[in-house]
Amino acid sequence: MHLSEILTHLGEDRKNYFNAVSPPVIQSSNFAFESIEQFRIDLQDELANHLYTRGNNPTVEILRKKLAALEGTEDALVLASGAGATAMAMLANIKAGDHVICVQNPYSWTKSLVQNYLPKFGISHSFVDGTNTGKIEAAIQPNTTFMYLESPNSMTYELQDLQACATLARRHGIITMIDNTNCTPLFQRPADYGIDLVMHTGTKYLNGHSDVVNGVICGSKERIHKIFQSEIMTLGNIISPHDAWLIIRGLRTLELRLQRSFESALHIARQLEAHPKIERVLFPWLPSFPQHELARQQMKGCAGLFTLFLKTDSLERVETFVKKLNRFLFAVSWGGHESLVLPMAAFYNIPGKQNPELPFTLVRFYVGLEDPHWLMEDLEQALQVL
Ligand SMILES: *Cc1c(COP(=O)(O)O)cnc(C)c1O
Repeated sequence: MHLSEILTHLGEDRKNYFNAVSPPVIQSSNFAFESIEQFRIDLQDELANHLYTRGNNPTVEILRKKLAALEGTEDALVLASGAGATAMAMLANIKAGDHVICVQNPYSWTKSLVQNYLPKFGISHSFVDGTNTGKIEAAIQPNTTFMYLESPNSMTYELQDLQACATLARRHGIITMIDNTNCTPLFQRPADYGIDLVMHTGTKYLNGHSDVVNGVICGSKERIHKIFQSEIMTLGNIISPHDAWLIIRGLRTLELRLQRSFESALHIARQLEAHPKIERVLFPWLPSFPQHELARQQMKGCAGLFTLFLKTDSLERVETFVKKLNRFLFAVSWGGHESLVLPMAAFYNIPGKQNPELPFTLVRFYVGLEDPHWLMEDLEQALQVL
């Protein structure tokens, strides 16, 4: 199906609601039945029918159809957060005594889930350098049942060879899941390579306006049904109809926003790479990126996120540089309209916390929808302090 059809029309039965161009927010917790017979029929599949909004809601259902079509999977679930999506999909597919393989340096709360939470239930893990499929293979144990990938990852954009990982996992009967937030389904479709479950933090590009937190899981009917019937219905971390409506609205412009953000980031990253005050720029679309070839092979582009390593040995200088920036907001998250800066230095010297493993010279930037030349001017003047 054409991308335009998905973003503009799929799932929207306008004749059911006065031919309104924008779908209604069906802000109802429950749905009434004409007969006991119909109730009995509908109860057999709560995910497909309308009984109660923890199970399915017509506004959320429009969004689910669009997201599944974008990823090329049979079905999708939308949850209250990206962290929730990762946890629900993982918990539905592992049991006490199992072993999980996870890429090293995943998103921070994914790491916490695997490292601090799963051991409570007797589930062991290995964090593995996912840039090397051989290392993943070497980490497989007889009780390995789940493989968690994130490609590119959050701060340094390491990739995994998706085709190779899927083939390897299939051979060992291991379920694969990927955090595909960076690329969105427009730049990477992991299910096409045989990955079983695709997760998104819809908080980032999918919604794209920095006003909704949500998570997405895409997969086959069978796998989605399993997660729904166990984790979603029992733990219940669903999205509200209104938030789903906001994401549907965000998706209308996904293609435009993503392309703009990607191209602007590439433009800026190229210029910064040549800057004398900068040690190194990490961005998957720069030819200098260690896995640039693989990126070109399995992705059509990447998020407008890049990471700089500044040429300085002073944490204070990094702080001054960040303070000098006027056109980038200092904030976590990304994927909205606004450009952001996140310096690793801000995670240093926090009472009661260990300093990060990544150096304080690392500064991550997200390029939003503003004019890239206007943003570059700001970077140029701030770099003068170094
Ligand atoms: C933000 C983010 C998450 C967490 O998503 P929430 O919606 O904040 O729970 C997970 N993975 C990646 C790559 C992210 O950027």
